[in-house]
Amino acid sequence: MPTRNHSASAFRSHRAIPFAWLASLLMLVAAIADAQDSGAQGLDRRHPLEVEALTAPQEVLRKLPAARAALVADDHDTRAKLALAEANACRVTADWSCQRRAGSAAMEAADRTNSVYLQVRSRIALGRALSRLGDFSNASRLLTEARQRLGTEKNDALMADVLLAYSSISARLGKLDESYRYAREGLAYAPPQTQPEMHIRLLRNMAKVASDTGRAREAQALLQQAEPLLPAVEDPKLTAEILLEEANAARVLGEADTVEARGRRIGAIGGGLENTQIRGLGFETIGHAHRMRGQREQAYAEYAKARDAFAGLRLYRDELRAVREIVDLQLAGVRADQLPDTTARLMMLTDEVARIERESAAADFEERLRFVQSEAALAAARTLVENERLRATVSENRFRYSLIGGALVFCILAGVIALYRQQRRYAGVMRERGREMEIAIATDFLTAVHSRRHITEAGHAAVAHALAHGHHFAIAVVDIDHFKRINDRFGHAVGDEVLKAVAMAMREACRDTDTLGRYGGEEFAVLLQGIDDAHAFVAAERLRRAVAGVSLRVGEQTIAPTASVGVACLAPDDKGFDTLLIRADRALYRAKAEGRDRVVMAGDIGDGTSSHDQF
Ligand code: GH3
Ligand code: MG
Ligand code: MG
Repeated sequence: MPTRNHSASAFRSHRAIPFAWLASLLMLVAAIADAQDSGAQGLDRRHPLEVEALTAPQEVLRKLPAARAALVADDHDTRAKLALAEANACRVTADWSCQRRAGSAAMEAADRTNSVYLQVRSRIALGRALSRLGDFSNASRLLTEARQRLGTEKNDALMADVLLAYSSISARLGKLDESYRYAREGLAYAPPQTQPEMHIRLLRNMAKVASDTGRAREAQALLQQAEPLLPAVEDPKLTAEILLEEANAARVLGEADTVEARGRRIGAIGGGLENTQIRGLGFETIGHAHRMRGQREQAYAEYAKARDAFAGLRLYRDELRAVREIVDLQLAGVRADQLPDTTARLMMLTDEVARIERESAAADFEERLRFVQSEAALAAARTLVENERLRATVSENRFRYSLIGGALVFCILAGVIALYRQQRRYAGVMRERGREMEIAIATDFLTAVHSRRHITEAGHAAVAHALAHGHHFAIAVVDIDHFKRINDRFGHAVGDEVLKAVAMAMREACRDTDTLGRYGGEEFAVLLQGIDDAHAFVAAERLRRAVAGVSLRVGEQTIAPTASVGVACLAPDDKGFDTLLIRADRALYRAKAEGRDRVVMAGDIGDGTSSHDQF
C-alpha cells in the first residue's frame, strides 16, 4: 500500500513538532531524575559504617549488632545498607563466608524496598562472595540479575560495579581477554574524577590481565594511572591489591627491590586490617623478591609464613601457590627433609583446587553469559520492533483520524453551505412571496387597480408631502350610480364585469402621476398629484366621462353605467388625508343628491362643497 505509506510519512513530518516537544520534556524529567539520583552516581548512598569498613572492618563488625538493634522493624532500606556494610567489612578481612551471609541478608532486605540501587549492590556483594567461594554459576546468575535490574535505571556507578564483577569472575575463570574487556568497558562508566575507587578497581583488573599475559609494561602503565587516585579513596585493601599488581609486574620485569618494597607495604596493610590473607600475600611477595635475588632460605621462610596464613583461612588456591614455591625450593635443596610432607600437602591442595574448579561450572557461566547477551540483544530488538510498530500505529491512527476529521470538517462545511444556500433560497422565496403579498395587498383582486389599503397609505404620504412642500394635491371619489339596480337586474357576476370595465375605463383616463384605487364596493378613489382646483375638476370630469363611455352588452340589452364624482383639493386648513377624504365624500354625496352623473367640487372643510356642479 504505497499510498498509505506515503501519507503516513507525510504525517510523520507534521508530527515532529509535538514529538520534539515531548522528547525535550522527557529529557527534562530524566535530567531531574538524574539530578536526584546523583547520590547513587557517586555511591554516596552508602551507610557511614560501610565507608568505615574499608579502613576499620573489625571495628565495624563490632558496631553492627547495636546498629541493627536500633532499627525499626520495617526499615528494610537501612537493614540492607547495614548488611552491605557488613559484607564490605567481611570482604576487607577476606572472610568470604561472612560476605556471603551478609550479601544474602542485604539482598533479602533490598528486595523488600523499591531501591534498584540496593537490589543491584546486594547482588554484586553476594555474587562476589560466591565467586570467591568458587560458586561461579550462582555468582554469574546474580550478576545477570543485577544487570537486568540496572536496565531500568540509568546509573553509571552501578553499571561500572556490575562490569567490574563480570571482569573479576572472568579472570577467576581464566577468561583473561573477557576480564580485560569488561574492565575497560567499565572505565567509561567510572571516570576518575567522580568514581576514583571504581576507576582504580577496573584499572587493577586490566593490569592483572596485562601482567598475567606477559604485558608487564602495560600493567605498570595502568597501575601508574591508579596510584595517584589511591589517597583519595582511603581503601587500604584496594591499595594492597594495587601494590600486589605492581609487584607482579615488577617480578616479570625482574625488579626485585620493587617487588620486596611492595611486599612489605602489603604486609603492613594486612597487619593493620587484621587481614590474614593480605598479610599472607605480603609474605608471598617478599618471598618472590628473595627468590629473584637467589636468597632461597629467606624466600623459603616467607613462603612458609604465607602458606600458614592461607591454610588458616582455607584459601586453597593461595596456599597451593605458596606450597608450589616451597616444593620448588625443597627440590633445590632447601629444607629437603620436609619434602614428603609438603608434597602430600601439594597433592591434597591440587585435588581440592581441581574439585573447586570442577564445581565452578565455567561452562555454565559461559552458557549464561551467552544467554544473557542474546537475551539482551533479543530484548533490544524486540523493543525496537515494538517501538516501530507503535510508531506505525500512531501515524496510521493519526492518518485515519485525520481522514475522519477531514471528512467531518468537509461534511460540516458542506452542511453549512447547503443550509446557507437553502436559507438564501428561502429568503428569496420569502422575498418573492412578500412582494407578491405586497402586490396582492396593494392591488384590488377584481379590477386590478390599487386596493383601498394602498390608496389610504399613498394618500397619507402624498398629503404629508404636499403639505410639507406646498404642492397641489386633490382627491376624486367616484361612485357608480344605481349600481344596485345593475346587480339586481343582471346578477352579481355581470355587476362584477361592469366594475372591471369601469375600472379599465378610468385607468385609461388617468395621467401617469394619478393613482387609481377601488375604495369600496362600487366606489373608486383617484389621487391627483400636483393639481390645482381647476385642473382637478378637469381631471374628475374626464373620469366621469370615461365611465359614461362604458357600455356592456348583455344579451339584447346594453348596460351603460354612469358615476358621480366628488373632488376635494388640499387646502392649508386640511390636517391630513382623512379630512380631505371626508370633504370629497361630502361633495360626492352632493353630486348624488343633485342628480348623479356629475362632478361636484368640495368647498372648505366648513361648508362642504364648491360651486362647480356640472358641466
Ligand atoms: P347610488 O347611486 O346611490 O350610489 O345607488 P347604488 O345602488 O349604487 O348604491 P347602494 O349603496 O345602494 O348600492 C351599492 C351596491 O353595490 C350594493 C352592493 O350589492 C353592490 N356591490 C358592492 N360591491 C359589489 C361587487 O363587488 N360586485 C357586485 N356585482 N356588486 C357589488
Ligand atoms: Mg353607487
Ligand atoms: Mg356606493
